[in-house]
Amino acid sequence: MKKHNFNAGPCVLPRQAVESAIEAIRDFDGTGIGLLEISHRTPGWERIMAETEQLWRELLNIPEDYAVFFVGGGASTQFFQVPANLLKNKAAYLQTGVWAKKAAKEAKYYGDVEIVASSEDKNYTYIPKDYTIPADADYFHITTNNTIYGTEIHEDIDCPITLVADMSSDIMSRPVDVKKYGMIYGGAQKNVGPAGVTFVIIRKDLLGSSERKLQTMVDYATHYPEEARNRSMFNTPPVFPIFVMHETLKWVKELGGLEVMYKMNKEKAELLYNEIDRNSMFVGTAVKEDRSLMNVCFVMAPGKEALQDEFFAFAKERGMVGIKGHRSVGGFRASLYNACPKESVEALVACMQEFENLHK
Ligand SMILES: *Cc1c(COP(=O)(O)O)cnc(C)c1O
Repeated sequence: MKKHNFNAGPCVLPRQAVESAIEAIRDFDGTGIGLLEISHRTPGWERIMAETEQLWRELLNIPEDYAVFFVGGGASTQFFQVPANLLKNKAAYLQTGVWAKKAAKEAKYYGDVEIVASSEDKNYTYIPKDYTIPADADYFHITTNNTIYGTEIHEDIDCPITLVADMSSDIMSRPVDVKKYGMIYGGAQKNVGPAGVTFVIIRKDLLGSSERKLQTMVDYATHYPEEARNRSMFNTPPVFPIFVMHETLKWVKELGGLEVMYKMNKEKAELLYNEIDRNSMFVGTAVKEDRSLMNVCFVMAPGKEALQDEFFAFAKERGMVGIKGHRSVGGFRASLYNACPKESVEALVACMQEFENLHK
């Protein structure tokens, strides 16, 4: 049976990226040696590294005065690396979910943290809009897509101070006006590759701007030196996830880039949200205007709660994988990342309709 993968991350990847990764493990770049067995100083690898940076720049239209590099440690490492590098006295955070809260917690090790607004009062089902960004903070941190709760900040906000965004789960899902941000970071494993690599996009004047004495690996400047061939190569880079990311971004480019991705993502999300709103068995959890295009969260409609396990089994029999909601929300979550095909969304919608008919 065909499986429809709705996992929240790690998650579905483009088939062609997986296939070329398998081939590269056997034989990297015609060298007769596998990707996992080469030196990261071989010319073929240096080319992949340079191309990967270039793909990021092209797809996101990243200006020249921004650095792009890749490190290990996941987005969770950035939660402390951001304040280590950028927090002098005070930072401001928008608390839109558990990831945002965790990010703010790490910042407290380095200085004052002001939570400008939080939607914790309603289990993070909305994005707070009524807040003031303190002019005296060193930066304002946002989480653009709240993977667990299915809410998303759909626009690049205007921010009078340095804007830092965790874009782990919506990077490359839409065009982004990078100039509005001082820094963008995230783990690759939601929309651009497998686990094991973290992307950092940072305005060059912020590199090495810290007055704090930083450990070499923590200092962003280490990872983007003058000499291009040493970028993201201070230590051994995670070659496998970077390779898969390279192939994933090639696929995004071949399909036409981020405008095309955005259109496809809007279509897929609309298809599923329309069904949730129409279907008497289910209700969405996030407020409509803040609904995420990437993670669609829904629960059984009032009075139908007892049917939840039955729907899980019903959907599983029809090939649906990974639709269980995060334990803090319950119900269901379908993640519709770039590589999730429209047929999978159509299959889930058909499954929801069939289930409703069965219980009419
Ligand atoms: C998954 C996720 C994280 C955590 O990423 P790791 O790479 O596992 O540390 C952080 N922020 C958001 C928005 C996420 O979705």
